[in-house]
Amino acid sequence: MRYISTRGKSPAQSFEEALLTGLAPDGGLYIPETVPQVSREQMQSWKNLGYAELAFEIISLYTADSMPDDDLREIINETYKMFSHPEVAPMQKLGEKEYVLELFHGPTLAFKDFALQLLGRLLDYFLARRQKHVAILGATSGDTGSAAMEGCRHCEFVDMFILYPHNRVSEVQRRQMTTIQGENVNSLAIEGNFDDCQNIVKKAFADQSFLPDGYQLVAVNSINFSRIMAQIVYYFYAALKFIDEDEAVSFSVPTGNFGDIYAGYLAKKMGLPIDRLIIATNKNDILHRFMSKNQYNLEQLESSLSPSMDIMVSSNFERFLFDLFKGDTQRVESFVTGLDQNIQQVSEQEWQFAKSIFDSCRVDDDTTCATIREVYEKYNYLLDPHTATGVKAARVCDSGSGNPVICLATAHPAKFGEAIAQAGLETPALPEHLSDLLEREERFTVLEASLGAVTDFVKKSL
Ligand SMILES: *Cc1c(COP(=O)(O)O)cnc(C)c1O
Repeated sequence: MRYISTRGKSPAQSFEEALLTGLAPDGGLYIPETVPQVSREQMQSWKNLGYAELAFEIISLYTADSMPDDDLREIINETYKMFSHPEVAPMQKLGEKEYVLELFHGPTLAFKDFALQLLGRLLDYFLARRQKHVAILGATSGDTGSAAMEGCRHCEFVDMFILYPHNRVSEVQRRQMTTIQGENVNSLAIEGNFDDCQNIVKKAFADQSFLPDGYQLVAVNSINFSRIMAQIVYYFYAALKFIDEDEAVSFSVPTGNFGDIYAGYLAKKMGLPIDRLIIATNKNDILHRFMSKNQYNLEQLESSLSPSMDIMVSSNFERFLFDLFKGDTQRVESFVTGLDQNIQQVSEQEWQFAKSIFDSCRVDDDTTCATIREVYEKYNYLLDPHTATGVKAARVCDSGSGNPVICLATAHPAKFGEAIAQAGLETPALPEHLSDLLEREERFTVLEASLGAVTDFVKKSL
């Protein structure tokens, strides 16, 4: 399996190279050259597999010829052993044909654990083979930082530096980063906002000459294809439960960066019987603007009750554009790079094609709270604010097909107590493995918002 860039100006790479670089040198994103196909018979034979076994079947299609099966199997088993629920991704039924797929039983209580626990182990595996060290540098406003740190804290060949805005993340989110045990992970509280953090990271990637010889930076945000790959698995895991009834299922996905839902799109391309893919956004609704008006444009960022979906641009949308433009990489590049100045549109025919796969819905904060309350009162089930946007979107976009709809529950409600309180409900307790989070000792370094302050710190630590 080889990986090509959406912008067409970088050579195709192996899985290993795509994992270790993240972003392609031409600025594009890596996508598989051909999407592996899975037959109905194969899916039938997979329907009773446990999560880790199924993950091996699917992931090995993407890593083929990069590593021996036994090594991959061991890494996957280690990864999903870390989850606190025996089913890893259990499903709950709410209403008639309405389900919630719980993706928050990993160490940091958000779905990002599915990919980042695996990514850390894969990185260390390939780096050990090369005897090479890397530094991970990333900016976070929420869940990615802690999931990445938790996924990499045992890595021998990885040092990690996570920037977050000082005094501007929630206490639970901050403590999830600053209390992680591990010599190789560093929490850097930047005296600025999230944009300042992101700008420093971007500049450091653009000029890596500050690093010691032989080192390189690695990106672990959702532009790294290995994260998408890991997320394909739970779409199969959930949908295969319905395969005997010969029913296609729909998925409703709370999304900001188009990462999670792009994994669903790939699952559908692989042959999984998926009816609709529903995009749920909060008031930062660039994807909904595109789906409902054929307008893809920048608007001011607003903070919401579902902060992990607060984005201006959906970086993974570029991967779908590659398909929408039938592999015309020049059009992909001009669409994406022209966004700063223009409102971007696609042809009527292309737009209809997108609408034949995706539905969308924008859910504001009031509606999010109302949905949390409604579901709690009716089913005694507590949704986190991100998941609530997905449940609401599923109800609004109901196509009347009568097919089951599976809403992805992307975070545990205890992580977002403020939204739960705003919905008028009692904040739930943190799960047992995090119950003493508020008493644990914190470790972080406050730095001024400048590139030099961060690169000096990184240099000194390596
Ligand atoms: C990151 C995140 C999302 C959005 O994921 P995308 O990659 O943008 O699709 C949704 N919910 C939670 C809880 C998250 O942490």
